Amino acid sequence: MNVLRSYVGGAWVVGQGELETLVNPATEEPLAQAGSGGIDRSAALEFARAKGGAALRALTFAERGALLKGVCDQIQAHREELIDLAVANGGNTRSDAKFDIDGATFTLSTYAEIGKGLGNLKVLADGEGVTLGRMARFHGQHILTPRHGVAIHINAFNFPAWGMAEKAATALLAGMPVLSKPATSSAIVSHRIMELLVEKAVLPEGALSLLVGGVGDLLDHVGAQDVIAFTGSGATGEKIRSRTSVIARSVRVNVEADSLNAAILGPDGEAGSEIYDYFMKDVLRDMTQKAGQKCTAIRRVLVPAAVADRLRDDLSDRLKAVVVGNPAHESVRMGPLATKQQQEDVTDGIAALARDGRLVHGSAQVEAVGVPDGKGFFVGPVLIEVEPGAAAPTVHSREVFGPVATVVPYDGSASAAAEIVGRGQGGLVSSVYSEDAAFAGELTLGLAPFHGRVFLGSAKIAEQSPGPGTVLPTLVHGGPGRAGGGEELGGLRGLSFYMQRTALEGSRPVIDRIVKPPS
Ligand code: NAP
Repeated sequence: MNVLRSYVGGAWVVGQGELETLVNPATEEPLAQAGSGGIDRSAALEFARAKGGAALRALTFAERGALLKGVCDQIQAHREELIDLAVANGGNTRSDAKFDIDGATFTLSTYAEIGKGLGNLKVLADGEGVTLGRMARFHGQHILTPRHGVAIHINAFNFPAWGMAEKAATALLAGMPVLSKPATSSAIVSHRIMELLVEKAVLPEGALSLLVGGVGDLLDHVGAQDVIAFTGSGATGEKIRSRTSVIARSVRVNVEADSLNAAILGPDGEAGSEIYDYFMKDVLRDMTQKAGQKCTAIRRVLVPAAVADRLRDDLSDRLKAVVVGNPAHESVRMGPLATKQQQEDVTDGIAALARDGRLVHGSAQVEAVGVPDGKGFFVGPVLIEVEPGAAAPTVHSREVFGPVATVVPYDGSASAAAEIVGRGQGGLVSSVYSEDAAFAGELTLGLAPFHGRVFLGSAKIAEQSPGPGTVLPTLVHGGPGRAGGGEELGGLRGLSFYMQRTALEGSRPVIDRIVKPPS
């Protein structure tokens, strides 16, 4: 069987010892094996720091942007092959797989353009300069320079292409080399992308390394100039943050974790109205796209009590039409969960949520199309509802990472909606569907402190918008509290995690010479 390798120290390395078998989650057919035993993580980090860091810092932002364009072109050129791998190893439908692969290329090309726009610079000015003395000559200016360590990227299983690319794009443009660790269960796509980049020598030596398999003792070797960007469960995020090596060396850590994203229909969302239909379409897509395994997927569906029954019934009707099964089959609209463990967790989660209210559509059991009997990690789309005014503690605290959402009726006021959503203790994104600007405005101010992004759904943007579940490279991704307290992307903002902000204080001509591009 194909054994996935790691690319560290400028060479492909096969892990020793016990290997994990990666399967097709629809059929449980083994696809590859992976392991990282015996790999010298300390040497891998040192190589990246010495070779990759030096090479990237020697380049201007425009040159680094051109490297990202090269990465993007390779993924684009092998798009069909990567989609096929994501269908097999990720349980993705073709549409789910495109969401991942095209999300990767879109993010890379956005950052390539940002690099081009920054041009000949190697240092970024952070904000305007300030006059510090009586005369303009005594000047202050903040600057950002690339950190001299490695950006360690630990990714979740659900976006093997986008997750790898969105983190790498910002770090490489900032001038930091990357060591990327995909989740083992779905690593085939990330591994293939790495092969493509190595084959064509798209990046300088040491700029991008790939560790396939368990993280092992990697984090014991972090240094004070390294950074860690992690996406995954809150529990793993906590372990990373609390490692002695991380605390002792003040290593910067960015955590993207769980989120109980809410979608709120405004009081103007009468049944059958344009905004009602738009709302339902977005909820339906978020529940079923990637079988609900999206950190940004809508989990809590807040609906004015007056339309809650109607919406529940309409949504249930639509969910009945979703064909679940092997995504290799043309008719299938929703694939399996990524692993047996996920299937077990989601099944337990459905039972726990249902205890807060009642299950109104679907169940963990589902008849899957095009699958050998009893095989595959399937869960059907499930809708739960709670009573108006119910405390529903599990609904507001437990992320069930699958095709599952809960209808939560509320009284139609912005203050009640904000209070209910706030019980989630911080999220990545929540969305407000209303044409009533006063309601949307009041609710936005109630939601914003608890979210990294607020999506304002209106029929006026419906045709152009991919909905709240899509992370855009020009807008911030991350959120406070439960969501991990992290922040990624956001255009130029995303670079600052990988750079040191330094205040310069001195004579203006000297500072200008440092900050302004050489002519
Ligand atoms: P996970 O179990 O926490 O794993 C995430 C990554 O961490 C994997 O690469 C995993 O490697 C690695 N890992 C496991 N134990 C580790 C340790 N002790 N130290 C360092 N790394 C370790 O999460 P998951 O099951 O893959 O992902 C599902 C969760 O991710 C969901 O809760 C979801 O909300 C969250 N998520 C968040 C975002 C976001 O942007 N906020 C995006 C996607 C997913 P192995 O695979 O080798 O075990």
